[in-house]
Amino acid sequence: MRAAVARRDRLEVAELDDPQPGSGHVLVKTLACGICGSDLHAAQDLRRFIELTGRVGGPGSLDPDRDLVFGHEFCAEIVDFGPSTERRLPIGTQVCSFPAIVGPSGPQPIGYSNEFPGGLAELMTLQEALLLPVPEGLSPEQAALTEPLAVGRHAVARADLTGGEVCLVIGAGPVGLAVVAALRERGARPVIAADFSPTRRRLAEVAGADEVIDPAARSPYAGWGDLGIPTGVGERTLMDMLGMPVRETVIFEAVGAPGVLQSIVDGAPPRARVVVVGVCMQPDGIEPFLAVAKELDVRFAFGYTPDEFATTLETLGRHELPAEALITLRVGLDGVSDAFAALRDPVEHGKVLVTH
Ligand SMILES: [Zn+2]
Repeated sequence: MRAAVARRDRLEVAELDDPQPGSGHVLVKTLACGICGSDLHAAQDLRRFIELTGRVGGPGSLDPDRDLVFGHEFCAEIVDFGPSTERRLPIGTQVCSFPAIVGPSGPQPIGYSNEFPGGLAELMTLQEALLLPVPEGLSPEQAALTEPLAVGRHAVARADLTGGEVCLVIGAGPVGLAVVAALRERGARPVIAADFSPTRRRLAEVAGADEVIDPAARSPYAGWGDLGIPTGVGERTLMDMLGMPVRETVIFEAVGAPGVLQSIVDGAPPRARVVVVGVCMQPDGIEPFLAVAKELDVRFAFGYTPDEFATTLETLGRHELPAEALITLRVGLDGVSDAFAALRDPVEHGKVLVTH
């Protein structure tokens, strides 16, 4: 089979042996697969990526000197079954799957495994027990957005919304867009999204943002007063003492670059909840005094649960999420390397899909 292989710090299209489905596995033909920000991080500095995932006790173990096929945001079609499979879904069924598989050396994350190729290959093996059939009327490309959109659903779940919060999303790349879409689905209002890219601001509107902000033109943190939110600690304390109702704020960090968390800590109103879902791999600093004095509640979000994944696919099947509009580029395997390079300067793209 053909695959885009990460090999010696490069991405190259190569011919690999077809994967053989093991016990409990199915062989699938990949139909569409998204390129994720985590893939870009890993491709850029695989050793650092391996070191960090090792320190949190992540599943699997990656060898930077062996071939690796990225791709964990996929939709595929069943072509064959391995031993010890139930075969409840017939050959030809289009499926999505939580990106994990159990191999001889234990559970492995699909897309970050030397043993199991990800969706940037023509064929993959998946765990039969994790397969979810694609709902009728949903294209493989739309279904491939299940994974990134589930990330947004999970981040919003981590925010513990109680209703009435003002939600600000910093960054409208694929993660921020997924957060905006999940907030809209939850009925949160207003949802405000900030991004320097006009393309991404337009996509944020499509995803359901009530208002978009160009941070080059005005600070995303300048409008609290207009929304009736006290901006200073003194003002907030006074309102609390007088028993005045205060509108709460949730800020999502969906950029994942050094300095962004500090800008949020600096710009957040007192008692704001902050959900960090952007993945920053470098050390980063904040001024804790600001967060302490404002009593900010900072949480971190990563991935999604299997339930959130399945619910996202169902929601896509009901066409309640704006999947199609978020896809801004489709490439074949030969275009993967260029697409990775283009995404390093991520101003013009929403979701990039590799189609087979
Ligand atoms: Zn991803």
